[in-house]
Amino acid sequence: MSDSIPVLTIDGPSGAGKGTVSRIAAARLGWHYLDSGALYRAVGVAASWANLDISDPAALVRCTFDTAVVFKEDAKGDLRVWVNGSDATDELRLETTGAVASAIAAFPEVRSALKERQRAFRQAPGLVADGRDMGTVIFADAPYKVFLTASAEERAERRYNQLKDKGVSVTIDGLLREILARDARDAQRTVAPLRPAEDAVLIDTTGLNIDQVVERVLALVKT
Ligand code: C5P
Repeated sequence: MSDSIPVLTIDGPSGAGKGTVSRIAAARLGWHYLDSGALYRAVGVAASWANLDISDPAALVRCTFDTAVVFKEDAKGDLRVWVNGSDATDELRLETTGAVASAIAAFPEVRSALKERQRAFRQAPGLVADGRDMGTVIFADAPYKVFLTASAEERAERRYNQLKDKGVSVTIDGLLREILARDARDAQRTVAPLRPAEDAVLIDTTGLNIDQVVERVLALVKT
């Protein structure tokens, strides 16, 4: 039974460090990794490739079922995401894609169309699942749950440094505005709003480095 396979859920707002922490934790545990945000982003990208009306939930649900998403490691060991046969990793990371993902993620129909696909990642010996509702909805029975936070200012600064390293020109103020808007939308939606599971351990990553966060997270998992 897949229910007996352990899951470590790592939820929190964008920029709290979930992605990096989850990937390292999964590698250290030797567990599988689910980047659930990438699924919402992939559907958003596929919908825009197909020129769909992203305010039409029925069209989005069809698109969700029709979109093939494959996670593959490249030669350097970096995770690449293929959408309908094309490597869409770079497009997936754009701020504009994040905003589309957040808009379509507000539709309960889209969330439920992605449910089983996310649960299928629960494979032996274990899964680290990163997202917004991993501990509250998708893997509500997970034995290990973490909710990562960080101040909005620190999240904007981290994102700024990441984008600057990639040569993308943005301002901290612009990023801060986008982060606050996305947080508000994710927290206020009626279905699966962003909030910690009652049994989640809260970790505020403001002022902590990645290694310190990973150690705190792994200390919770008994293997
Ligand atoms: O985590 P990431 O920034 O890639 O997620 C993009 C958007 O997808 C989020 O802003 C959120 O609206 C949505 N999302 C969600 N539930 C998840 C993962 C992501 O609603 N489990």
